[in-house]
Amino acid sequence: MMTQILGCCGRYIQGYGEIKNLKKHIGWMGEKYLCVASKNRLRDLKDTILKAMEGKEVFFCQFDKECSWEAIRDITEAGKNNGVQAVIGVGGGKIADTIKVVADELGGIPQAILPTIAATDAYTSAAALIYGSDGTVVDVKNYPHSPDVVLADTEVLLKGPARLYVSGMGDALSTYIGGVVCQNHYFENHFGGTGTHTALAVAKLSYDMLLKYGRQAKIAAERHTLTDAYNAVTEVNILMSGMGFENNGSASDHCFYFGTLALPEREEYVYHGEGVAFSTCCQLVMQGASSEQLDEVYRFCRDVGLPITFDDMHLPNLTDEEYDIMTKAVLKEQFILHHPFPVTYEMILGAYKTADAIGHLYHEGGSLL
Ligand SMILES: [Zn+2]
Repeated sequence: MMTQILGCCGRYIQGYGEIKNLKKHIGWMGEKYLCVASKNRLRDLKDTILKAMEGKEVFFCQFDKECSWEAIRDITEAGKNNGVQAVIGVGGGKIADTIKVVADELGGIPQAILPTIAATDAYTSAAALIYGSDGTVVDVKNYPHSPDVVLADTEVLLKGPARLYVSGMGDALSTYIGGVVCQNHYFENHFGGTGTHTALAVAKLSYDMLLKYGRQAKIAAERHTLTDAYNAVTEVNILMSGMGFENNGSASDHCFYFGTLALPEREEYVYHGEGVAFSTCCQLVMQGASSEQLDEVYRFCRDVGLPITFDDMHLPNLTDEEYDIMTKAVLKEQFILHHPFPVTYEMILGAYKTADAIGHLYHEGGSLL
């Protein structure tokens, strides 16, 4: 039998105003903490964190760069100088990744992550992407364990822009669609094992919950008000999506999006999860998903405002040369090997063009059914 691996953050906590109970959740980590956040988040949350951590020593460090080796060295230095026993990251995916590396550099000390936007599934994962000065990924770290504590305070998250929240839904949408292909064919997950039944159940649940609550959760996010649907989709975006992608594995659900990033003459206008939503549509088309499933996914994306055409992706009037560049870029992506059939140039090009045409059909009020 193949080895199955399941990984997740040590503890996940979600609640409105829960930062106020921070010490209760992370006080076991030590007496001295280094808290890393952007200038704006320090302005908003420094006092709350200090009050919550009363009796402990907290040093603050401003993060205003990329998750780069330069930033990591500076923060690690600050941690060493103050003899901290744990690190806290307050922010988005880049701060989460930075904290993972810093905690490791400081000898593998405990780490807590306080997400401020529900747009990424990086918080619970054991991986970190490190960027160079030109904005490209220079290092990918895969640590043997995920962050110890992820504390999602919905009062903080609700202040974030609705578009980012919806983008998180796009990233979450890919979780089951990519993961189920891996699981069905015993491909490796991101930990180098095969997936567990638990992981597949979590991914399926995330998919069902998106379809059930996503539309109303978006409305709550736009109004910056807490509803049960908002709460549910926050759990989908942060916990289920993070657990799901790592523990099940990926197929071409991100590859078609990465293909568009290879276009030299085009600016990138969409957020990660937005591009992933369209990419997921392309995967479904390529693998011959039923019209029923395509209908379900296209309607959902259209309703919440996730891209379903190249126009939505801000990539109008693509030339044959551009299609060629994108298609060749997809062919180089390793996760296309996680399909049970060989993926060819013609299949990728066909999926791009057909997924876009189906998107137009849905924008015009048409349907596959
Ligand atoms: Zn993603």
